Amino acid sequence: MSAFAATLLDVWETGYRQPPARQALAVLAGCLKIPAEVAAACSVGERDQLLMTARQSLLGWRLPTRADCPACGELLELNLDLREFLSVKGTEPRSELLVDSLRVIWRLPTAGDLADVATFDSTEGARRELLSRCIVSVRELESDAIVAPSEWTDAVGEAVEVAIERAAPESDFWIHLNCPACGHSWKVMFDIVTYFWSELDFLAQQLLAEVHQLATAYGWHEQQILAMSARRRAAYLEMCGA
Ligand SMILES: [Zn+2]
Repeated sequence: MSAFAATLLDVWETGYRQPPARQALAVLAGCLKIPAEVAAACSVGERDQLLMTARQSLLGWRLPTRADCPACGELLELNLDLREFLSVKGTEPRSELLVDSLRVIWRLPTAGDLADVATFDSTEGARRELLSRCIVSVRELESDAIVAPSEWTDAVGEAVEVAIERAAPESDFWIHLNCPACGHSWKVMFDIVTYFWSELDFLAQQLLAEVHQLATAYGWHEQQILAMSARRRAAYLEMCGA
């Protein structure tokens, strides 16, 4: 954690109040030192697996979680294990689809595609941009002639959207829950991006408070404080009555 302190604040600053798709890339770049273009080219499934690796090396496999039973309101304390979500199968990088008399080659959005369109103001604009990236080519079935993007029908876009939705279960991690009080069973989706980000956000805020206290008490610079081990920071904090 001590060597990680400065990195943690860099990652937190880069991803602060950004859409989750961008926070995910900030974590991959900062925590795992993955080059931006490599991270952007990852599928969403690959991105999530890498985030789990980063989370494991920083905070371990255990995921303490709470959930309210939707039937009786009982609070469930869960202790999930990240390893349950590893090795979810990947999908083909490219697939083919027949729409009317057209052969459409499409691919799933990458982590970079999602990060790029996450800041679009209009949902429709984001949707169009994503489709233009994920539709690789459209050809006439009989003549094999290429159909220019300006000629693509709405049916092509709609069919590809449905196909993307169907083909992306690798990014969805469902947790099956049973309420011990009333027996109700249901499932919730586990999202590693928002889960891990909220943990990093908490740690970063805690670290900033420690830097503030030590800088105020001793006049040390931020870099000096961040370079210390967590144990040493805690010892000094105790001495100055924090
Ligand atoms: Zn219940």
